[in-house]
Amino acid sequence: MATDQFDVIVVGARCAGAPTAMLLAGKGYRVLVVDRATFPSDTISTHLVHPPGVAALRRWGLLDRLVATGCPPIGTYSFDFGTLTIAGAPGTDDTPVAYGPRRTVLDKLLVDAAAEAGAQVRERFTVEDVVVDDGRVIGIRGHGTGGRTITERARVVVGADGRHSLVAKAVAPERYHEKPPLLAAYYSYWSGLPMDGRFEIYVRPDRGFAAWPTHDDLTVLIGGWPFAEFETNRTDIEGNYLEMLELAPPFAERVQAATREARFAGAAVPNFFRKPFGPGWALVGDAGYIKDFITSQGIHDAFRDAELCATALDETLSGARTFDAAMNDYQVRRDDHVLPMYEFTTQLATLEPPPPELQQLLGAVHGNQDAMNDFARVNAGVLSPAVFFGEDNVRHIMSQAVGSADTL
Ligand SMILES: Cc1cc2nc3c(=O)[nH]c(=O)nc-3n(C[C@H](O)[C@H](O)[C@H](O)COP(=O)(O)OP(=O)(O)OC[C@H]3O[C@@H](n4cnc5c(N)ncnc54)[C@H](O)[C@@H]3O)c2cc1C
Repeated sequence: MATDQFDVIVVGARCAGAPTAMLLAGKGYRVLVVDRATFPSDTISTHLVHPPGVAALRRWGLLDRLVATGCPPIGTYSFDFGTLTIAGAPGTDDTPVAYGPRRTVLDKLLVDAAAEAGAQVRERFTVEDVVVDDGRVIGIRGHGTGGRTITERARVVVGADGRHSLVAKAVAPERYHEKPPLLAAYYSYWSGLPMDGRFEIYVRPDRGFAAWPTHDDLTVLIGGWPFAEFETNRTDIEGNYLEMLELAPPFAERVQAATREARFAGAAVPNFFRKPFGPGWALVGDAGYIKDFITSQGIHDAFRDAELCATALDETLSGARTFDAAMNDYQVRRDDHVLPMYEFTTQLATLEPPPPELQQLLGAVHGNQDAMNDFARVNAGVLSPAVFFGEDNVRHIMSQAVGSADTL
């Protein structure tokens, strides 16, 4: 009888794949994680890691390593709506700060941790297809630098291969909560743009931009416009980007005094969930659930998927539960957790003015430090939008603001 060479093969070795491999290898499973990239390497993504992502790194014993790379902490989130600014602390007592590590640093750290946990890491390996037998995924087929086709088998193949996931395309799972791309955004790195531990976001009609500090004394500055303007604006990205910053004159002045140190990179992404499991396969990270990056949730969402999926796979590989029962839990827990944030994110990404009730609420939040911290925590993925925008909380904030609320 043929035996599987691996318990789990993970395709993709960044924010979702490397931790999934690390966690499963740490439990003693035979894990192969492959990526067509080599590490360290960059990818098209900015990289704000909110406190829940930082907490995951700490749980995995990796936070000290990140801090040792000299990545500056971010303790304040500031939301400038033009007429008022809401500034608050994004974290919790345990994990008070966010970080903005370059993906060259973060992803390498995660890949190394997977290898240290015992996973076999194969870089420069491109997966061309999944191998299916009797309706069940049983392995992958691909090639390394030599070009020779190699087949590897496993009890489960995990697609952690990002938003253009080949694994997802091959298994074609159900998609739901689908919305089209909503905005197009571009980013670059600037020197001489000090942020003093702050993440700053500027919200203007049809425009939104944000900046925060990263490695090497650089600041990442991303900004964008509605997807409807994608085609017209792509002919002059720099001009449109700089013109956008003029909507916040004091910030534009700071940028004028700074130096751009890199080319522009950018993207527009669709919004949808995929059913993240089926016979012999699972999906984590962007492969399983993708949404606009305006709220910067993707990295910690990928970390959470890695933990939930690794737990479910452990339960099923160890024989404690059936695959379907354990993986169904993974899907339900993922969806329950992210759905309110998904709705909040896709609303923000329209770059439409906040509806009147929200304007009123933000006016009441302004100046109320507890409420401003909570608003920062919503954006950080620490506090659910369902709680913050829930009737009781809104009533509470409005009652504290009677007679003193500002208007947006
Ligand atoms: C412009 C932009 C800005 C963003 N900003 C933020 C932010 O500030 N904070 C945040 O949290 N999130 C941000 N995100 C989202 C974040 O980048 C993603 O959610 C996150 O990278 C998902 O991680 P992942 O591991 O699922 O996928 P990825 O990081 O995309 O990794 C997938 C890996 O799979 C590999 N792969 C793919 N196909 C194959 C194949 N056939 N064979 C072998 N290997 C393969 C790729 O080489 C890649 O290394 C941003 C996204 C964009 C586009």
